Amino acid sequence: MAKKNNPLIEDNYQEELLDLTQIQAEAKRCLNCKAPRCSLMCPMQCEPHRFIALLNSGNIEEAAKFVYEKNLLSYICGHICPSEKYCEKNCLRGRIDRVIKVREIHRYLASLNRRDEEEFQPLNNKHALIIGGGPVGLVMAHKLAKRGLKSTILEKSSYLGGALRQQIPAFRLPSSVIDHDLNPLLNERIEIKLKMTFGKDVTCDDVKDKYDAIIFTTGLDKPRTYDFMLDHPKVILAQDFLKMCRHEREITTYDKIVVIGGSDTAMDCLTSAKKIAREVIGVYRREKERLRANKESLEMGFKAADDFIFNRTPIRFDEAGNMVFKNYYGEEEETIPASLYVLAIGVLIDDSYLKDFFEIEDGVIKNKKISNVFYAGDMSSSDKTLVSALSTVEDVVDKVLNYLNLD
Ligand SMILES: Cc1cc2nc3c(=O)[nH]c(=O)nc-3n(C[C@H](O)[C@H](O)[C@H](O)COP(=O)(O)OP(=O)(O)OC[C@H]3O[C@@H](n4cnc5c(N)ncnc54)[C@H](O)[C@@H]3O)c2cc1C
Repeated sequence: MAKKNNPLIEDNYQEELLDLTQIQAEAKRCLNCKAPRCSLMCPMQCEPHRFIALLNSGNIEEAAKFVYEKNLLSYICGHICPSEKYCEKNCLRGRIDRVIKVREIHRYLASLNRRDEEEFQPLNNKHALIIGGGPVGLVMAHKLAKRGLKSTILEKSSYLGGALRQQIPAFRLPSSVIDHDLNPLLNERIEIKLKMTFGKDVTCDDVKDKYDAIIFTTGLDKPRTYDFMLDHPKVILAQDFLKMCRHEREITTYDKIVVIGGSDTAMDCLTSAKKIAREVIGVYRREKERLRANKESLEMGFKAADDFIFNRTPIRFDEAGNMVFKNYYGEEEETIPASLYVLAIGVLIDDSYLKDFFEIEDGVIKNKKISNVFYAGDMSSSDKTLVSALSTVEDVVDKVLNYLNLD
């Protein structure tokens, strides 16, 4: 193991954007369906059929404004949204030749950075506390600001952007793209307090009578793990590994890294690991067909992995400090040696502080204990993707306004 300049640091990123001629040619392929499946499938109702129609009628400026009217994080979604499971999934053009590259069109239009002047209602003396400065917390604060509320955001890390800036590798989502969408959300009605961990620096008693509404947008912050791995020097949680890969200027290199898990996060770990290790192996407890990651992540993960071992679940370390796995469906054991094991087997909501506010059963929030408390984003979305997390915001804004008799 040695330290070297981190090749994953984002200075190396090159944006690959289609040009206007390519985008227009792509838009022209749209069949203009009567019941546009692209729009029906989008959790946020971004209505691709409408921005494609605007583009086809030559209204590029209108199309560019339209994407931000529908989705304040359009440029980010244009980079990372798993469009193959949403807008591109049932595109009828796919039955003729290939589906339309809706995400590329969305990304191009968002890159033009056209937004209509936004209207802000007069201040109404109400103040919300938002816990979690990820994408959902920021969009929430912005929407409340437009409705006349002030917000204070508490964020435990030293920057805003949540999983986008903490974990997604910079080669998929560089900071310039994150800033392009998040910076315009901030305004004087939003107070940001970084390096403030709720449950540690601030507690339920500190806030429950101080704010008109308290909104949790803390995402899924509690990694699943195995007891035998706790504090083992060869084990690192995926969240910590990805943070290290994205943010440390100098990084330790390894002979062999094993990534355990089959999610999008596991695929990001494999792709990142390949840049700092000679050999990279993926291990998943079930069959290949049951991998949960999206198509694009899977392609990247498989390209990076030197080998992928299926139907293996970790059980202990042997005397030499290597991890022993068991066949998921049988009893036979196999040792898979490595210099580092990255554990990417899922995340849950952190019930340690949430239990003061909510009744939680099996990691799911069932009821609230305090009436002015709300939650949104990954904590409540079904898909654990950005569009799915963002699609929960509007409903919570309505509930907050309704609770405060402002609707
Ligand atoms: C590795 C990885 C890859 C992903 N890839 C994709 C992808 O390709 N496409 C896609 O659509 N989605 C992807 N996602 C999912 C996407 O990032 C999330 O859906 C989105 O970030 C959810 O936003 P959020 O604001 O709800 O939560 P988060 O982004 O998790 O933000 C929560 C914020 O709360 C803060 N916080 C947590 N606890 C506390 C506390 N106690 N006190 C104060 N602050 C706290 C955290 O530091 C964080 O900033 C990926 C996620 C990960 C982890």
